[in-house]
Amino acid sequence: RLGGDEFAVLVEAMYRPDEAIMIAERILSVFCQPFMIEGKEIFVGTSIGIAANSPQAVASEELLRNADLAMYLAKSQGKGKYIVFEAKMHEALMERIEMEDDLRRGIEEREFVIHYQPILDLQSNRMVGMEALVRWMHPRLGMLAPLRFIPLAEETNLIVPLGEWILAEACRQMQLWRDQHDELEVSVTVNISIRQFQQRELVDLVSRALSNSGLPARLLILEITESFMMQDTEATIEKLHELKKLGVRLAIDDFGTGYSSLSYLQRFPIDILKIDKSFIDKLGQGSEGNAVARAIIMMGDSLNLKTIAEGIEHPGQISELQLLGCEAGQGFHFAKPLTVGDMDEFLLNRRSNAEG
Ligand code: C2E
Ligand code: MG
Ligand code: MG
Repeated sequence: RLGGDEFAVLVEAMYRPDEAIMIAERILSVFCQPFMIEGKEIFVGTSIGIAANSPQAVASEELLRNADLAMYLAKSQGKGKYIVFEAKMHEALMERIEMEDDLRRGIEEREFVIHYQPILDLQSNRMVGMEALVRWMHPRLGMLAPLRFIPLAEETNLIVPLGEWILAEACRQMQLWRDQHDELEVSVTVNISIRQFQQRELVDLVSRALSNSGLPARLLILEITESFMMQDTEATIEKLHELKKLGVRLAIDDFGTGYSSLSYLQRFPIDILKIDKSFIDKLGQGSEGNAVARAIIMMGDSLNLKTIAEGIEHPGQISELQLLGCEAGQGFHFAKPLTVGDMDEFLLNRRSNAEG
């Protein structure tokens, strides 16, 4: 026993190369059986990491460290698995540790910026909202897209301080634009990770971001993913209602890609469905191509939800969405996510277009 709930098995003589794997499989199958404790069946999950000594002979500490790393990887992929150590795993771990340090420092040093992508009404072609999309100005790696760091931020819980800043900053910037452009009635949409949602303080944070910025609650939309709906707990529903009580609206991002139960949709106080880009991509290919987008728009209609199409790249997609009755859309065809400076310009042009 190495400590806690960790045990090591030393296989001294290997008769065949996959002997360690066979042993691991045997151990896992034994642990599939429950233990009987005081008449109750107790199941214990097991994860196994395997490391082999190389012909160059690695030190015993290194061997254990390698097995340990493989074990953690096995664990992260769910219980009941084994993983064989490979040298690249160590590099990946080192990179991850470095990235985590960078992320922590980056949040302190305010290395993040927000870009804003216009959301347009598909009938009038007017901007009705914008989505706040974070980027990291990494001092060494340059500008990083969210997919490069949001998953790590979520795993490490650093999404909580980062998300708090994004929320406050997006509200502040939107209100600033409102001050500069009178009668600007455009909403700002902020993506919220499930980790942020699980925090007790989220409702307070949102309320504070609104009062500190002066942004009216009706102009803030929080975007959550479908995975929220899988936790169909009363607590989740109650929290969504608390957010709604502040006056903000709720949207479901990437709708159609996750697990959606229609009955959940009715139980959750949702206002907007964002149709995932993968379904918008298929538009313009006849009735089969638009089947999912059409179904989502019709469902939104009957449940009184607004629909926003994501990732519009071609004009043909707009006409089809108009026919289907989709209200709004965003995508590279209209504009990419814009820096604050570019959005300033976009807002000015929009005004001169309206006046001209
Ligand atoms: P999302 O919320 O679904 O955001 C839409 C993504 O699609 C954005 O990528 C946007 O740049 C991209 N996009 C928009 N129109 C088009 C188009 O016409 N074609 C193509 N190919 N792509 C388009 P981005 O900015 O890289 O963000 C990726 C994801 O990262 C977001 O997906 C969201 O899930 C996450 N994310 C971004 N910002 C935040 C944030 O502030 N907080 C959290 N928690 N997640 C964020
Ligand atoms: Mg989004
Ligand atoms: Mg999306």
